[in-house]
Amino acid sequence: MFNKAINIYKSGMSPEELAAKVLEWCGYKYDDLPVPIDPFAIMRKCGIVYQFMNSKKLEGVYIVPEDDDDIPVVGINFNRPITRQRFSAAHELCHHLKDQHSQICPIGSMSTTIEKYAERFAAALLMPANTMRELALPYLNNGCIDLQGALLLSIRMGVSFSACARRLAYGLHLLPFSSSQELNRRLNKFKPDKVKMAQGIDREPIDLLEQAVNSYEFFYKISSDMTWYLFKNNFIFNENRMEGVDLDEYEVAEIVADLRLNGSASEYCSTEYDNIIQVTGHSSIYDFMLSTDEKIDVYKLMKLNRMLFQYTPNPDMAGGTRKYNVLVLGAKFETADWHDIMPRLIKLRSVVETTVNQVDTLSVSEYIEMAARIHHEITQIHPFSDGNGRCSRAFFNWMLRLKGLPPIYIKHENKEKYYEALSLADLEGEHKEIVRIIIKELFKTMMEINSR
Ligand SMILES: [Zn+2]
Repeated sequence: MFNKAINIYKSGMSPEELAAKVLEWCGYKYDDLPVPIDPFAIMRKCGIVYQFMNSKKLEGVYIVPEDDDDIPVVGINFNRPITRQRFSAAHELCHHLKDQHSQICPIGSMSTTIEKYAERFAAALLMPANTMRELALPYLNNGCIDLQGALLLSIRMGVSFSACARRLAYGLHLLPFSSSQELNRRLNKFKPDKVKMAQGIDREPIDLLEQAVNSYEFFYKISSDMTWYLFKNNFIFNENRMEGVDLDEYEVAEIVADLRLNGSASEYCSTEYDNIIQVTGHSSIYDFMLSTDEKIDVYKLMKLNRMLFQYTPNPDMAGGTRKYNVLVLGAKFETADWHDIMPRLIKLRSVVETTVNQVDTLSVSEYIEMAARIHHEITQIHPFSDGNGRCSRAFFNWMLRLKGLPPIYIKHENKEKYYEALSLADLEGEHKEIVRIIIKELFKTMMEINSR
């Protein structure tokens, strides 16, 4: 597969020609291209595995396969905007097709011929001339486009304003300029992020993130079970800080181990250590989810809630739905009237069932969106007196596991954003912020796992 892709490049080809050949090889019709072009899907088609990486200096890397059995790998800087990540994906693809030796591609230094070629290839791949010309038509005035038009076009193409404007100026001659310096000055003055904010345009379109996750290879250096095991204490540490318990990572690990080992004989097994006992219950939820073959359904929430409180002095109190109304302190979302809990759970049951039954046919992003909706609905139903957050997030991770995805945990410092995303779903029925958080957390989990 990947050898075939490598043969696309012929010596002397221009970046434009190579990009057109790649699109054709992928089965796209050059006069009817789906935009935004999905460079991640193209990489995948070429047999490349891409991973995100934390880097201060690099846009990306290309690691050449050592032999025929090896896989070409591309690393993309996680901390860069999605538009730049897409550009880097296309850029590294060029190294794979043309250069066939490992490359390290620094931020802002495109000085060598090889790097310049790869940048031009990326521009041509993501902004094919024909398509750009066609899509630019509505914005043309006397054959020219202005910067506002360039901004709107950049959003259609899924590229940065600057990349789009330069392509329009240098490549397509639709954006007139007197000199490079003058053009740079104008582009710098435009402040696209401010304009986007003022016009209510998303700075990080969710469809681009969805492309990035849909072709992503969830590749575990260690087994996926081991991943869950390694992450368990981290989850619990974070989750319990979220619920107002203030313990450090090591304390949590030690206490959990002791309660596990000694059960009711543990010095921690008393009301005095209520929080810690819940930490242990929480830990056992994840152990259960790791090993169980039980089919997931919405009523398993009750089981998770019972497990969460199983080491407490009154474990029988858990697992039942609340019989009174609550106002969640500090939360920005409303919870269901208690009379509605069961009817809403019954409704949700079939949504969970449908989603899980389609686990193999839904794309990763479709599945995540469904799981996000379910997660949000559970937080609104707020079925229990206590432990709702932990149980709903555990349930969510269980759903991820069914799709072969790693668990995520919302870190302490990100919880504000997470609650805001839930609140947006509450108020406007808009789930894309939750989906955005989930996709990025999945990438973060993968980076943590594979950097071990
Ligand atoms: Zn490069």
